[in-house]
Amino acid sequence: MKQLEVYIIDDEQQTLDLLSEFVRLMGCNAKVFISARDFFSEEITVANKSIMILDLNMPDMDGIQVMRKMVETGHIMPLILISGYDSGIIHSAEQLAKAYSLNIITTLSKPFNFDDFKQALNSYTLENGQQEKSTEQPISVSELSLAIKEEQLILFYQPQIDISSGSLIGVEALVYWQHPRLGLVSPGLFISLAENNGLIGDLTALVIKKAMQQALYWKSKKLMIQVSVNISADNITSLSLPEQLSDMLDGHQLDPNMLTLELTESALMGELITSLDILTRLRMKGIELSIDDFGTGYSSLSQLYRMPFTELKIDQSFVMNMKRDEEARGIVKTCIMLGHELKMNVVAEGVEDKQTLEILSDMGCDIAQGYYIAKPMPAKNLIPWIQHREVLRLKFD
Ligand code: C2E
Ligand code: MG
Ligand code: MG
Repeated sequence: MKQLEVYIIDDEQQTLDLLSEFVRLMGCNAKVFISARDFFSEEITVANKSIMILDLNMPDMDGIQVMRKMVETGHIMPLILISGYDSGIIHSAEQLAKAYSLNIITTLSKPFNFDDFKQALNSYTLENGQQEKSTEQPISVSELSLAIKEEQLILFYQPQIDISSGSLIGVEALVYWQHPRLGLVSPGLFISLAENNGLIGDLTALVIKKAMQQALYWKSKKLMIQVSVNISADNITSLSLPEQLSDMLDGHQLDPNMLTLELTESALMGELITSLDILTRLRMKGIELSIDDFGTGYSSLSQLYRMPFTELKIDQSFVMNMKRDEEARGIVKTCIMLGHELKMNVVAEGVEDKQTLEILSDMGCDIAQGYYIAKPMPAKNLIPWIQHREVLRLKFD
């Protein structure tokens, strides 16, 4: 990766000095501006590899105005926000940046800590390096279509554990593409391509088939592992879906409650009557329904009221932040209460450390999923993972 250019805009000279020192220590180039007007008045051609560290609180042009102007003038680059404001204001600034499609790497509060800065910059450069690799030759629709036909798509499984007992109760199936040229491609890079080009029906059918075959194999090993699969909006337009799934489950001799369909709120934005019809009959056939990424979409409450969900999956953005952020913790706690009031199981995803798991346990959350428990893994690794966990448990109990 070429050297990163870091633009720093802050109205305090001391902060500029400190941050430019941090930037140099990381082996990057720093360009400092004591006012945003200076930045915009300079003839800047934003290099491919640039980021900006932006103070939200500045007298002549504040950080919000800077973001607006960046979009107007095309000076777009990923941002690190710095602020002494309360977390409510920082959240709204982050949301605004998202709405402008600006990438926020992180938010730093004064006084700064070099380790936090280093960590944020390292993870950004790492991700960016990977993106560079995958966008060198973009994926085409025909390639994806062929991949579905030739079954180049494989499933990884991420464990979900019962928080109170620690035992495995299910897995989420996540589709990855074993690409002949690019290696393993993650779903974020091709799901929307499939959704926007009429391929998601075939993709989901393949995922469900493979997930059921896997569940049947585990059943043959006396392991009752529920499998969750992700469903897109276009998958819930066919009125015969409940019958098709039910027949497939029968064919695999699996109980319907071994399958959970995860839907995001945006997947439910389509034709209300059709999705309500389909979801109700899926439930009548015993298939479980989960509302995924809860809290990030629209009209969550009315959808919960109308639709027959059995599980509420709290979005990982809240879970990941709950350790350090009171508002995120409040949202997680409220989602758990809400889910339980509506007689649903509550899953927290994005559990990355022990402390978060402990807070969730104290809050009465039912199920946890996240890197602290396990990353998504190929099917063949799951049984060894269970055995290893058992051994650890026997040792420490
Ligand atoms: P999702 O359904 O919300 O899946 C959870 C995502 O969070 C997965 O990313 C998982 O690897 C990641 N994750 C889990 N725990 C942690 C954690 O502790 N920390 C962090 N940083 N991340 C964690 P992945 O595999 O990249 O999947 C991204 C999304 O792609 C999924 O989000 C889902 O919306 C979509 N997707 C995956 N498989 C399918 C599929 O078969 N069909 C459809 N329609 N969408 C799929
Ligand atoms: Mg999901
Ligand atoms: Mg999710």
